[in-house]
Amino acid sequence: MDERGMNQAEVLKQLSEKLKRDLTYTSGLILGSMCTKPHPFAKEVFQKHLEKNLGDPGLFQGTVEVEREAICMLASLMSKPDAPGFIVSGGSEANILALWSARDKLNKRQVVASASCHASIDKAAALLGLKLVKAPVTEEGEVDVDAVRRLINDDTAAIVSIAGTTDLGVIDPIPELSELALSYDIHLHVDAAFGGLVIPFLKELGYKVPDFDFKLQGVASITVDPHKMGMVPIPAGGILFRDEESLKPLSFNLPYLSGGPALQYTITGTRPGASAIAVWALFKHLGREGYRKVVARCMELTEIIAIEVERIPKARLVRKPVMNVVGITFDGVKVEAVAEKLRRRGWAISTVRGFIRIVVMPHVKLRHITRFMRDLKEILREEV
Ligand code: PLP
Repeated sequence: MDERGMNQAEVLKQLSEKLKRDLTYTSGLILGSMCTKPHPFAKEVFQKHLEKNLGDPGLFQGTVEVEREAICMLASLMSKPDAPGFIVSGGSEANILALWSARDKLNKRQVVASASCHASIDKAAALLGLKLVKAPVTEEGEVDVDAVRRLINDDTAAIVSIAGTTDLGVIDPIPELSELALSYDIHLHVDAAFGGLVIPFLKELGYKVPDFDFKLQGVASITVDPHKMGMVPIPAGGILFRDEESLKPLSFNLPYLSGGPALQYTITGTRPGASAIAVWALFKHLGREGYRKVVARCMELTEIIAIEVERIPKARLVRKPVMNVVGITFDGVKVEAVAEKLRRRGWAISTVRGFIRIVVMPHVKLRHITRFMRDLKEILREEV
């Protein structure tokens, strides 16, 4: 840090120069992110409440109530309006909290997860001293339930299933896993960080999607992130539990707080109230109808990509998209070579296990897809 400060105009000039290197969602070039440009209303509300701290709840009792109502709206989408939970820093924190609760409730140390689980499950296991074993997935990308059954032992605390995998947006057979969890009396966590704000609306739009939420009696906790398809500014993750009992292992008393002693249940102490307020405001503003329209549009574009891909020689879908995530693979052409050429043309796409992943987020428009498909065709022609 310099001894003397700089005037604000100069600071802003330097900053804008440095940040020019960042990509923007509006450019349409970001096709591989599960985050998006926040909804302008959520952004406006978020910016107004930056000082609210849910880590000192006695000081911000109004914000506490807003968080409770935001959780109730999120929980009602997950078929259990009274499910307790919190707006947290993201899916990673939510997944850690779920496995922490499961470990201490059952006093067991093993977790069985789908091989396609997000890296945050590996992080959670490392942090919590859990033995993580992974069950293989089928060709379609869903976890193999028989393999999960075989991996359960006397020390198993939890099964982690996924509703909207990071790589392909696939939904595990959660009804069957729920039965399994009930029969072994273990915790079933559903990581719906991405899919949680897609699947309920897909259902309402008439898509055939399996049950994945608290409607299934074996589901003990759900991660669902408003900062992904919820279009709320980062950070806004969500964790929900079936019952209050599950919160006990996470409960810590903070005696020194200026709003009076309080219990905290999250990993972060100081916690942005603005996130919970923005979730509340955007859920109230858009309603189910608003989110349904967003999901419908993302699915229309997803289907356009799927049709176009099947028309390109040498390109094919990894599987029929379940939600707004598309995997594209190539015959006789190295995926890394295609990805590299796409990146050189500016496209920010992800590569996973031998395919390119496109996430059709709300910032992706038809014109971006048209341009992307044209570039992909040209690149594949060059590769002949
Ligand atoms: N779970 C799933 C299924 C995800 O796809 C992701 C991120 O993409 C996460 C968890 C982690 O979320 P975050 O990056 O908000 O911590």
